[in-house]
Parts: sequence; C-alpha cells; structure tokens
Amino acid sequence: MTSNNLSPAAIGWLRFPPEASRGRRYPETPHPYRSDFQRDRDRIIHTRAFRRLENKTQVFGAGYSDHFRNRLTHTIEVAQISRTVAGALQLDEDLTEALALVHDIGHPPFAHAGEEELDRQMQRLGLRFNHNIQALRLVEVFEQRYALFPGLNLSFEVREGIVKHSQELEPGAIPALDEYLPGQKPPVEAQLIDLADEAAYNTADLDDAYTAGFFTLSELGAAIPVIGELLDDCETHFPAASERLQFQEMLRRLVNLLVGGLIEGTAAAVRQAGVRTVEDVRRFNRRLACFSPEAARTGVALKQFLHTRVYESPELVVERTRCQEAIGVLFQFFLDHPEHLPPGYVDGVSKVPLHRAVCDYIAGMTDGYFDRVFQHLIC
Ligand code: MG
Repeated sequence: MTSNNLSPAAIGWLRFPPEASRGRRYPETPHPYRSDFQRDRDRIIHTRAFRRLENKTQVFGAGYSDHFRNRLTHTIEVAQISRTVAGALQLDEDLTEALALVHDIGHPPFAHAGEEELDRQMQRLGLRFNHNIQALRLVEVFEQRYALFPGLNLSFEVREGIVKHSQELEPGAIPALDEYLPGQKPPVEAQLIDLADEAAYNTADLDDAYTAGFFTLSELGAAIPVIGELLDDCETHFPAASERLQFQEMLRRLVNLLVGGLIEGTAAAVRQAGVRTVEDVRRFNRRLACFSPEAARTGVALKQFLHTRVYESPELVVERTRCQEAIGVLFQFFLDHPEHLPPGYVDGVSKVPLHRAVCDYIAGMTDGYFDRVFQHLIC
C-alpha cells in the first residue's frame, strides 16, 4: 500500500480521469499503454517550446550562478510538487503533471520583465500579450509535429487548464476562447497548479537569493516569524551544522509547510463546500484549491520579503530595465523592418497583424537567442 492510500486528505471522488475527457480536437486511436493525459504530458515534454525553457530566466539571469533555477528547472520543481499534491489528494496525477509541465511555456525571454514589456508594446497597438494565452497558441498553432493536424491536439482539459492557469475566464471576455467553458472553474487538478507554482518559486527564489547574498539568515528570521522559528529549531537540532546547512534544513521544512498546507487547505475546502462531483467543482463560486491559513500567511510574508529584498533590489531593477529597453528597441526594429523576420513569420504576417507576428517571434526567443539577434541587428 502506498502512502497515498493512507492520506486522510484524499478527495478521490473529485478525480478527473482521462476517460471523462471532452476529448481532442482531432480524434485519435487510443494508445496501447498510455492514458490520454499521459500522452499529453509526453507531447508537451517533446516540444521545442519546452526545451527552450532551459535558456529562459526565472528570476536571476545567466551570469549569476550555474546553480540557480532557470525556467526549465523551475518547471520540473512545479511538476514534482504538483504530482505530490495530486497524489496525496488522490486526484489524477497525470493531468496535473501535464499542466505543471506546460504552465510556463508561453513565457517570453527575461521572465516577468519580458512579459510586461511585450504587453506594453502590444497595448500601444491595441492588443495584449499574456503568457497563458501564448502557451495555448504554442500548443495549438506553433508546434508542428503531426502530419494530420496542427499543434499537439491536446485533450480539452489540458487546453482549458492552460487558459485558466492563473485567471478566471469570464463569459464574453475573450470570444476566441468561448469553447473553454467561460464562467466555470476548472477541475481541481488544474486549480492546484498556480498554487504549486507559488510554493515552488517562493522557496526556490529564497534559496537562490540567499546563495547570491541578498540577505542574511538573521534578517530573514526577523522578517518572517515562522521562518525564524524554523531556523531556531534547526539551530537547536544541528548546532554544529554550517549556516548554509541550517538554511537548507529550514528550507525543507518550509517546502513541507507550504506543500502540506496546500494539501490540507484544499481537502478542507472541498469538505466544507460539500462538493460531490467535478460538475459541482465547475459550478462552485470560487476555486477550491487553497492553502491552509498558516501556509497562506507564510506565503504572503515570503512574497513580501522577496519583493522588497530581492525582486525590487537595485541590482535586479537595473537588469530588468535593461532587458525591457532592449525588447522595446527590437520590437520597433521588426515593425519598421519586417523583412528581417524569419520566413515563417513573414508568411504569417498576412494572417495576423504585423505586431502580433513580431510579438510571437520575440516571445518564443530564449534569453541567449534574443541577445544574439539584438547584437546582430541593433548593435
Ligand atoms: Mg511558474
């Protein structure tokens, strides 16, 4: 018997099994030994967009350290946490894993700075850029791997989970997305991803920022009392351990607190809401995936600390500004000189506005490729 079967948090009656899927856009014969959600997961892993995550910034750009997270290793951590949570809740681990692996593939180079700048450029021209919608475009349009259909032909629930990753889809808000059940919540498997993402990046950013010397342990412990207690506990248990090891011991406990809190909070919310079916989940007035109160408080404090001490530190602000200016310059260059876009994008210009084609091209770039193109065309 696995530990999952013993989990008091199990809410297996809300599991979304692959047999219940609304299916694929283009029907396919079943695979002999993989479920549809397992196939979706595997298709995502084999995309170019997934491989490019390796050279996209998470928080710290290249040059800080070879040990720090990039967007690919962050994605693997989110998948690991998501799978653990889904397993403990007895939900469909494969659907959760597929959604975790795809959750960041729409990210442009240079992390949130890149996303903000592309959105600013697009708004200037009357459109928007959003990484979730971009992820859907990647799996539906840009990834060409099958002779019989465009894109990856993913199951409905994976595409729906991409659209609703970190936002609700309001009825009528985006007519092109009307097939994704506007006004309804996604299955719990999909609801978990955004919170698993938070647990993963809050702890990972803390780890990398500590290693980079952005704060000391006493500053961290003083700013967040829960962490202060965990650090005291580690010092009591391992008085001879180096500060670095005590930090690691604290970090493991912190990950457990957040991930355990996500499992407990979600199980409690489901029981309190009294939802019995996935249909109940869809029609409930709020998402049921949530942290326990203690984990939620800790998450908020962590976020606040990371904002003031790391994300808004002069070092990272300077880097962000440099990246945003460069994106703005390259964006305008392609608007003025569309002949410099690769052939596929030039053909595409007839079907989408030029600024959408420019946005797609830049959004797909890795940090390294962006720098090379910038050097070649601008410098
Ligand atoms: Mg993420």
